[in-house]
Amino acid sequence: MTEREFAIEVVSKLQREGHQALFAGGCVRDELLSLTPADHDVATSATPDQVKALFRRTHSFGASFGVVEVLGPKDAQGEWLKVQVATFRSDGTYTDGRRPDSVTFSSPEEDAARRDFTINGMFYDPLAHRVIDFVGGEADLRAKVLRAIGDPRQRFAEDKLRILRAVRMAARFELTIDPATLAAARVMVREIKAVSAERIAEELRKILTNKHRERGVRLLGEVGLVEHILPEVDRSPAEWERTCEAVERLPVHASFELAFTALIRTAGPGIGAIRRRLRLSNDEWGRISWLFMQNERNFSRDELRSSLYPLLAHPAAHELLTLHRAQGTAPDVLEYLEGLLRDLPPETFNPPRLLTGDDLKAMGLKPGSHFKRLIDTVRDLQLDGVLTTRAEAEDKVRQLLNGL
Ligand code: ATP
Ligand code: MG
Repeated sequence: MTEREFAIEVVSKLQREGHQALFAGGCVRDELLSLTPADHDVATSATPDQVKALFRRTHSFGASFGVVEVLGPKDAQGEWLKVQVATFRSDGTYTDGRRPDSVTFSSPEEDAARRDFTINGMFYDPLAHRVIDFVGGEADLRAKVLRAIGDPRQRFAEDKLRILRAVRMAARFELTIDPATLAAARVMVREIKAVSAERIAEELRKILTNKHRERGVRLLGEVGLVEHILPEVDRSPAEWERTCEAVERLPVHASFELAFTALIRTAGPGIGAIRRRLRLSNDEWGRISWLFMQNERNFSRDELRSSLYPLLAHPAAHELLTLHRAQGTAPDVLEYLEGLLRDLPPETFNPPRLLTGDDLKAMGLKPGSHFKRLIDTVRDLQLDGVLTTRAEAEDKVRQLLNGL
């Protein structure tokens, strides 16, 4: 059984019991666009208690919001099928700009009205094969328009994250933002600081890993989000245009880290402030910092191997070359380096060391600050092909010590 088939079963059972039950939100939009939804959300007139009583295995999810997760059989991959069933509700006032202070169970009309954009506000009855659209979502989807439901300023004021969601949705589905919605987003944009760094990071991940990331990045600029989320980025017209073009030239499947580095390429030392502000994982920052630093370096064909190989040995070496290519580094140098990565076995770039600190101790040397210098020098000469055996390396160490 597929997730969709299970969701239809859930809807059928609710309807047989006399409740209203419909597919809701993102899955309706995706199906109208002939896309496969990530999941199917069900909205119903049944209360959470009624939903829990009807299904054998449930899980109270966002109890205060009336969301119950219904578990089904396992799918072909052995994963439990699950569908979120939410009682129709209207949201109370928002005092924190994030979540409503209270929710009231209500009608489908009111449930549509609390959603963010018209394209996200539709229902679908999978048994009657009927779209139920109180907000004009179908017409907007056909016209490729992203429009807030209700008064855009008020909707952005309620939840500032919607400003970023607007950019993400417009980019992902190639929509034009309706003028009133765009104007409201621009006016409200400074309020984005009320949104937690984690939620902002999550939206940026989604925008930057989507194939329409260039559109997303341009919209971040147009709405004014770059100034408020990443003020360290150079927004002077020529530099910003170069940034957008670099993002555009990235391959479709570019990682978040690669695309993010392209976006902040002009931040300079400001990267430190971005790192402190934006809550990304240590793994993400590890890769971004490395790409960012190495992005500022130049390559040449006749560079010493000792300066090139440690770079090519890095797990993000391919991404670094991709980043350089996207920014217009001379293609012949990049082809040469890509050729090395392709044609030479990986250990070429990081061969076992000829000498370690223990070896130096075994030679009778006293550990100290000069150890690292000796080891690094030997390493460079090894990578450059000057030293090839341990005996040669030991001779070199003696020679260096005599010269001191
Ligand atoms: P995705 O495919 O990215 O999951 P989605 O539209 O399903 O897209 P979700 O974040 O899963 O997005 O939210 C599900 C639905 O809940 C949305 O379609 C929308 O109707 C509503 N929704 C989500 N976030 C908000 C919000 N911040 N404000 C108002 N409605 C929202
Ligand atoms: Mg969703």
